[in-house]
Amino acid sequence: MKKRVRVRFAPSPTGPLHIGGVRTALYNYLFAKQYDGDFILRIEDTDQTRFVEGAEQFIYESLKWCGIEPDESPLHGGSYAPYRQSERKPIYKEYADQLIRTGKAYYAFDTPEELETVRKNWEAQRKMFIYNQETRSMLKNSLTLTPDEVKKKLQAGLDYVIRLKIEGKDDIVFHDLIRGEVRINKLQIDDKVLLKSDGMPTYHLANVVDDYLMRISHVIRGEEWLPSTPLHICLYEAFGWENEMPAFAHLPLLLKPSGKGKLSKRDGDQLGFPVFPLSWKDPQTGEISRGYREDGFLPEAFINFLALQGWNPGTEQEIFSLEELTKIFTLDKVHKAGAKFDIKKGIWFNEQYLRKTPHEKILPLLKAELSLNSWNLEDNKLLQAFDLMKERISFHKELFTKGKFLFVAPENYDWTTIKKKLNDKSITLLTKIHDNWSVIEKWEVFTLENVFKEIIEQYNEKIGNIMPLLRNALTGESVGPNLFEISVFLGKLEVSKRIISFIETLKHNFAYKI
Ligand code: GLU
Repeated sequence: MKKRVRVRFAPSPTGPLHIGGVRTALYNYLFAKQYDGDFILRIEDTDQTRFVEGAEQFIYESLKWCGIEPDESPLHGGSYAPYRQSERKPIYKEYADQLIRTGKAYYAFDTPEELETVRKNWEAQRKMFIYNQETRSMLKNSLTLTPDEVKKKLQAGLDYVIRLKIEGKDDIVFHDLIRGEVRINKLQIDDKVLLKSDGMPTYHLANVVDDYLMRISHVIRGEEWLPSTPLHICLYEAFGWENEMPAFAHLPLLLKPSGKGKLSKRDGDQLGFPVFPLSWKDPQTGEISRGYREDGFLPEAFINFLALQGWNPGTEQEIFSLEELTKIFTLDKVHKAGAKFDIKKGIWFNEQYLRKTPHEKILPLLKAELSLNSWNLEDNKLLQAFDLMKERISFHKELFTKGKFLFVAPENYDWTTIKKKLNDKSITLLTKIHDNWSVIEKWEVFTLENVFKEIIEQYNEKIGNIMPLLRNALTGESVGPNLFEISVFLGKLEVSKRIISFIETLKHNFAYKI
């Protein structure tokens, strides 16, 4: 029988989830959904010293905003609960004890100071120390001490760790679904600590035990975990779980736009784009970092963009809904090399989505933004304004900056252009347009345009001279959406006010010229 596809995203809540993490979650989600499988969120919070308040909540909120909600998680529940590792402590102890009983692991009592001394001695001889099959016989552990001594130390409550006993000098070979064959010699792997005396497991033990207990079929994670995988394989073997071992796929890193180095949490501030899906307030310093949501990205655009940072379907198509992605995503098309992060492409995606997002979806976003300004507008007017501007903005909130003239009369004009276009006919023409438009009964694009054209013909003026002036009168700018459509949107009264006010300003500033 084929194994059910079950994948997990297993972040440690040691800080705000980074976009690299979101991409890992996304690829897991796409893979799971393609096979009708389960996408699990497991919180790996065994390192209490690195606990960051709010980081777990941030993960839930981020995934929710992206539309990639888990099937099972601490929040969603599931048959393999608990999904928070700090609540599974006794389980790990039980499994570590099992390895001790079967002779696959051992107690080690070396203090950190003792190990430091050994390390220094080795370094003095230009050798690198690793705690492994070649050195453990010289160290203080249950393989070198008598059973009685071990018992006494444990009873006395001395600090200890449980280490995995790696044996053999052969290679560990496995097939990574992205990188192909990976091979490493067992002598290069150290006898990793699995559990500490306070009963807290290390990442390796907890991760492998949980992947096994939660019946994970595929481990899809960041490339930084590739070096840990041989050790994990040794752990599966030590437990006798070889047949239940998941397949592994290690994703390439997200690189800085320059391609030089990994995109880090600090990069956002320096490179001028967010590295977190949502904005994050550091609980300790109060420092606020930008988020894609707050910057105005639509989640669908963000996800589409992120999916293509390190993967592509091998065709020219770039726009994919989440559902389409679940149909075509394959791990073998994930690139091996790191993906240079390209924020310009991200903005392009947002533009594409902005233009095709249905009114009912964009309206709440526009209303939220409108409420930040003191402007008032009915819903259908707001949507009309959006339609006028949507080809010219990258983010919905730019409607209120780049399209400000739709809400308030311009306070400034583009004088450089005005000076070039102004001539002795200008005021007469603008006045004529004003007067003839004022008597129009059917205030619509077609009529406004016809009246306008009649006037410029009558006065034998070039459209390229008068249009920028009229546009400045109405918008304060020299380029923008169709002027007649803007006029219809603004309404007769407002248009009249703006033209009059512009004429007054011209008269005041250029009396000598006119
Ligand atoms: N807790 C690890 C992390 O923070 C999980 C690595 C894995 O997926 O195995 O990335």
